[in-house]
Amino acid sequence: MNHGVRLRKTLDGVPAYKPGKPAAPVEGLTAYKISSNENPYPPLPSVLQVVTEAAGSMNRYPDMAVTALTDALAERWEVPTSSIATGTGSVGVLAQLINITCDPGDEVVYAWRSFEAYPIVVALAGATSVQVPLTETAEHDLSAMAAAVTDRTRLILVCTPNNPTGPSVTGAALREFLAAVPSDILVVIDEAYLEFNTAEDAPDALAIYREFPNVAVLRTFSKAYGLAGLRVGYAVAHEDVATALRKAATPFGVSMLAERAAIASLAAYDELELRVKALVQERERVLAALREQGWAVPDTQANFVWLPLGDDSVDFASSCQAQGLTLRPFPGDGVRCTIGETEANDRLIEIAQEFRQLRKSAS
Ligand SMILES: *Cc1c(COP(=O)(O)O)cnc(C)c1O
Repeated sequence: MNHGVRLRKTLDGVPAYKPGKPAAPVEGLTAYKISSNENPYPPLPSVLQVVTEAAGSMNRYPDMAVTALTDALAERWEVPTSSIATGTGSVGVLAQLINITCDPGDEVVYAWRSFEAYPIVVALAGATSVQVPLTETAEHDLSAMAAAVTDRTRLILVCTPNNPTGPSVTGAALREFLAAVPSDILVVIDEAYLEFNTAEDAPDALAIYREFPNVAVLRTFSKAYGLAGLRVGYAVAHEDVATALRKAATPFGVSMLAERAAIASLAAYDELELRVKALVQERERVLAALREQGWAVPDTQANFVWLPLGDDSVDFASSCQAQGLTLRPFPGDGVRCTIGETEANDRLIEIAQEFRQLRKSAS
């Protein structure tokens, strides 16, 4: 007799999300978590105060339409409120995007390696991932992605800057790509790291969204805005898509605390931007130091660097772990290191140096 309930077969093919590990304490050392691309700065006092005040109303449901944040975002980006759709982090919005575009068996094209939530949300919907390998320089191969489109393709994800490797696509390459993609396929530009992108030829995704009726832009408050723990993200999309996204949202998913914090953070962006600039400066410092040591680190426009360590990835992560630095290994491929506190960055540079020397003397 079978005691198990009947679950969807598709679940067998859903990979588990491996979250960045928490920092592990090591005696005599401050432990740092640089495994989840979080903002190392604590919340701004002004934001914390708004959230603290809002906490007094947690017995009430939030505004299901997330009206105040929608208005603030529409004003900030000069788009109609009808083109904003919010969700529980941009991962929440991502799941909504797949739900509104894909029936079982439909295809979602994205670069690989890229954000590890992509294969999960695609598989959960019963859709099929079409992963297009990155180039040698860890960038999107947009022409190969265009060539991967079939009559089953319903959604294309372009992650720029790309998590976990770092490079950004250019505006020109993105426009050329969009011109080659059938206009009934939704193309989502995932800009989780937008604020860190200092490349001169970086795409102006909102301008591109205005030019192409099949483009949507995905953004989050989790990284530059430092609200990862509150779960709020959004899409800027044309009205048909945005309306569908609102239909697919978890009812009351965006909490009142998240909404208030996001509004306060938009208002305080000048202050947050100073932190973003400091992190970008640290990124450039770490990148230069690692390259100086001889590492082939790809260009990065985000708040992390990628070490293409291949089979040494797990060993390197263990060495770091032993010295109080928790980062994110992708076994057999590479290691993603978030730019964090200055001391964490210094320690990363030191360990990377030692690791290289050890490997050199061993070979
Ligand atoms: C971190 C990240 C997100 C944002 O996740 P949230 O759900 O908003 O916290 C989205 N896309 C990519 C590529 C990311 O790295």
